[in-house]
Amino acid sequence: MGTATRVSGSLMPDVVRDAMQRASRAYVQLDELQAAVGRRIAELTRNDAAYVCSSATAGLVLATAACITGDDPEAMASLPRPDRVPGLPTRVVIHRCQRFAYDFSIRSVGVEFVEVGPSRAEVNLGETTRAEELRAAIDDDGVAAVMYLPGATSELGAVPLSEVIKIAHARGVPVIVDAASQIPPIENLWHFSGHGGPAPWARAQKAIGVRPDAPDDVVGLGADLAIFSGGKGLCGPASTGLILGRRDLIDAIARQGNPRPLIGRPMKVGKEELCGIVAAVEWSLGRDFEALARQYEDDVRIVLKAVRGLKGVTASRSWPSEAGQPMPRALVRIFDGARVDRDTLLKRLDAGRPRIEVWPSGADGIHVNPQTLEPGEATIVGDALRRHLA
Ligand SMILES: *Cc1c(COP(=O)(O)O)cnc(C)c1O
Repeated sequence: MGTATRVSGSLMPDVVRDAMQRASRAYVQLDELQAAVGRRIAELTRNDAAYVCSSATAGLVLATAACITGDDPEAMASLPRPDRVPGLPTRVVIHRCQRFAYDFSIRSVGVEFVEVGPSRAEVNLGETTRAEELRAAIDDDGVAAVMYLPGATSELGAVPLSEVIKIAHARGVPVIVDAASQIPPIENLWHFSGHGGPAPWARAQKAIGVRPDAPDDVVGLGADLAIFSGGKGLCGPASTGLILGRRDLIDAIARQGNPRPLIGRPMKVGKEELCGIVAAVEWSLGRDFEALARQYEDDVRIVLKAVRGLKGVTASRSWPSEAGQPMPRALVRIFDGARVDRDTLLKRLDAGRPRIEVWPSGADGIHVNPQTLEPGEATIVGDALRRHLA
């Protein structure tokens, strides 16, 4: 299924578990550990500053809060009713086509959305967002931030992020990027909010020949804050999230995060998670990306081969992932004449041992995402598909 939170995200490598276990044996001043962890993660990810919270959605809450309050203690204490303090911004601008289930977390801080551009359905009919519309929405003293959801699919019909940042910054409004599931590519850690740098994932895909035009480096786009889930592509504790970016905003987050009794207090991370996510970022940066890129391609091929030639079934390599990441998946489509229909297949995969969860695609397809497969597991998935469909 890929790194979906409802199926528990990812598996932690041993170094992450060991770091958590070591951390569990000592007392710390939580503020000091949080600050040290932030410095280390900022350095590793080529950002000015970093903060660890309990999830990407907690990151959305804290990032929104910081954009409203800055370093003003009275403003922090007013949340989630910023409207009670005269002069505080209470609106967040978002593309209508980028509204998503988790945007509840942003609204929970006490802001309202100002939506711009066409809906997702209208984008699918060919409409796009005009930059002037975005500019007009931001031209308002009550705007705390612009929210942006990157990825090949969610950016369709939206103003490109680089232009959004230019327009917002011209008005002094910060841009928050929800990149929760945008790893791979690992270089996104420094692409959105950081200073740019090498692009190891793109280089690896170029080296194995699946993306000949991949760039060798990425620029830093200049987003004010970028948020990542710790338990998805980074393979850290599922109860962590990273907020990367501007130092003053990260400071404003830390001042209302755990252990301070303000809006971030229920989004507590313990010393175990703090040490675990540092180990996970270090491990993630040191992966053999060529081997990983090759494994994804091999796993997709194994699944496609297993179902090819079955009656009423077609199979193809698809690109990008459900989150718009540059990586392949296997798309299997099931038509009249197949042994079972798509929904029956989903039920049987879920009822099997081992239990297999895949994303549905449209009315008749499934997507098999290799990101969460351990070596050898693609064969298990392929065999199960063949058993149910043959
Ligand atoms: C997964 C996801 C989230 C939520 O991440 P958690 O760490 O589970 O809170 C938020 N936004 C997007 C775009 C996601 O893909």
